[in-house]
Amino acid sequence: MAGIALRNLTRRFGDSVAVDGLNLEIEDGEFVVLVGPSGCGKTTTLRMLAGLEPTSEGRVEIAGRDVTPLPARDRNLAMVFQSYALYPHMSVEENIGFALRLAGRSRAETAAAVAAAAGRLEIGHLLSRRPRELSGGQRQRVAVARCIVREPHAFLFDEPLSNLDARLRGSARVEISRLQAQLGMTTLYVTHDQVEAMTMAHRIVLMEGGRIRQQGAPMDLYERPADLFVAGFLGAPAMNLIPGVIEPGPRGPVFAAAGLSLPAPLGAPEGPATLGLRPEALSPGDPGPGEIALRGRVDHVERLGAETVVQLSVGEAGAISLTARLPGAAAPGRGAPMALRAPVSALHAFGADGRR
Ligand code: ATP
Repeated sequence: MAGIALRNLTRRFGDSVAVDGLNLEIEDGEFVVLVGPSGCGKTTTLRMLAGLEPTSEGRVEIAGRDVTPLPARDRNLAMVFQSYALYPHMSVEENIGFALRLAGRSRAETAAAVAAAAGRLEIGHLLSRRPRELSGGQRQRVAVARCIVREPHAFLFDEPLSNLDARLRGSARVEISRLQAQLGMTTLYVTHDQVEAMTMAHRIVLMEGGRIRQQGAPMDLYERPADLFVAGFLGAPAMNLIPGVIEPGPRGPVFAAAGLSLPAPLGAPEGPATLGLRPEALSPGDPGPGEIALRGRVDHVERLGAETVVQLSVGEAGAISLTARLPGAAAPGRGAPMALRAPVSALHAFGADGRR
């Protein structure tokens, strides 16, 4: 495996810029997830790295070497696709060894490489099976084994899980993370799914409009989003974002909006602002020290079993709607009044420019 560097990587289509001067280094063995909304430039970035898409500007380095002029087949990267693209008429053994045979390696050499890869992926007992006789997870392992025998510099994944149902997606996430760690795979993984990004990445790179908005460890982005876009993108249900103003109050600055008056987050400057509050930071009951109080009326209740998601209207004339994520199944019925509290330390403030 090897490290990767994208330097000032740019791709234009006519007048529009799909990827705009992107700089990104991926360390040897690191799992980087490129995430963002549809059209933000994730796939174009991955394809430029893979050599499947020409660059308009900038360069791609793999293991310290400029590979920008090289075609895809000379970059020694493994692409894992959604369908895993196994050959249905070949056995697992033939699937894994196919590329080596094609490259002219001897039968014995190929067999040894296949056995080693199958051993590492714990699929040695499946070598004589056909792909249709495998579970989804086993197929994934075969696909990875088939890449590993070529000793690639890095693995690239483009939305590999988007066709799976929710339950399978969960187990595939665990499986990919485990393989990545076990094999020390340098990995760039593209997805629009913030859950995949949060759960799998060593580092999340969140893109929008062809640029990086913020990057860092998943919990750093979650707990300290740099701007409103990042705050709204990570987390489901999404962070509550309440537009208002920070103004002086008798006991220090307050955040005011539609009849609400809350202590402003520490250090937030006066002026127009958006207050952010994660749904899980809210809990039922009256406030204790260092907590804010929010009173409202219940609009909607979703019981998920282990937790309950409540939509409330708060503030003057119920002008502000708020989502709370409460443990357990207890919640008042629709239309009932409800008192909520949250630690002051859970409040985020974003300025008029959207920055934290
Ligand atoms: P998605 O999650 O929907 O796949 P993405 O983040 O991967 O989105 P890209 O596919 O990289 O986004 O596309 C980035 C931008 O470049 C989009 O606005 C897209 O319409 C545009 N684009 C991509 N490929 C082409 C092309 N061949 N010709 C013109 N525009 C393109």
